[in-house]
Amino acid sequence: MPYFRSNIRSMSGYVPGEQPQGDGFIKLNTNENPYPPSPAVAVAVNEALQHGLQKYPDPMAGAFCRRASELLGVPPDWILAGNGSDDILTIVTRALVGEGQLLRLPYPSYILYRTLADLQGARSEEVHFEPDWTLPEAFGRGSDDLRLVFLANPNSPSGTVVPPEAVLELAQRLPCPLLVDEAYADFAETNCVDLVAKSEKIMVSRTLSKSYALAGLRFGYLVAQPHLIQQFVKVKDSYNCDALSIAAATAAIGDQAWLAETREKILHSRGRLMTAMRDLGFIVPDSQANFVWALHSRQGARPMYEELKRQRILVRYMVYPGWGDGLRITVGTDEEIETCVAKLQEIV
Ligand SMILES: *Cc1c(COP(=O)(O)O)cnc(C)c1O
Repeated sequence: MPYFRSNIRSMSGYVPGEQPQGDGFIKLNTNENPYPPSPAVAVAVNEALQHGLQKYPDPMAGAFCRRASELLGVPPDWILAGNGSDDILTIVTRALVGEGQLLRLPYPSYILYRTLADLQGARSEEVHFEPDWTLPEAFGRGSDDLRLVFLANPNSPSGTVVPPEAVLELAQRLPCPLLVDEAYADFAETNCVDLVAKSEKIMVSRTLSKSYALAGLRFGYLVAQPHLIQQFVKVKDSYNCDALSIAAATAAIGDQAWLAETREKILHSRGRLMTAMRDLGFIVPDSQANFVWALHSRQGARPMYEELKRQRILVRYMVYPGWGDGLRITVGTDEEIETCVAKLQEIV
């Protein structure tokens, strides 16, 4: 295809997890919330519909930013709303990383970061985590063309966390911005939002897909110092969030009682899943997210994944060269987890 830019022709493209459209699967493969979202979401969407959809939405999603501002303790102009946090990651990469320049990412981690670099025709440098999932010194090293560093925190697939003190120290050593992808921070004990005020190099992205049970809606946001936000606004689609999702997302973050209750249930189930998997002989790092990463000490994970799928239980099978292959299992309801663990007991 000679019409296309050479970087597009040569890249393979991001492959999202399977999304079977029929019912009948226990779906533990893409870290969705097993519980329905706050009832306030449906009320807000209905109200927005009554209002009509003939007008364009607020380009900056001001209602959302004001509510998020109260929640996070930063001014509203420190927040940029996006069509899912993948939209935010795209905006940031397009704004900061040019052709031939360098983007750094940890490994193993979220595979999309690499794709974003490829789209830019940029170079990406994967720096391996230490075996205990801490970051090596090299992750913070300066380099001439380095324009952006991504860090998923908690990380996927491991569920492990780099503590905020280490993130701040890392940012201070880096010559460029550090995007801390906090897609799973609501399930963790710590987060880095307070660091944004301490260093203009630290930016934090969040999503409503996982903790707020709104993966089907598409809403995420960035927290960064306002002079950076102003530059990112130039890069985004003018109306990157629609009226219904702005209303829904604003209502969702307004119901913190729902979040606290759902979080408790998921953390409880996560504990049970980690224990059960370890009892089955898997190596499972302590997870601070809504999934666990399980490598078997003796057996390959692929046949396990395939057999679970035949039994209509979907988990994520992942191979990371140099790290082995494993199962990333989303924390579902207690019942879903019991079923999954019982099947694994038969398989392993
Ligand atoms: C799920 C996920 C996202 C994307 O979230 P969306 O808001 O649904 O686009 C971003 N980063 C990581 C690490 C994720 O796991």
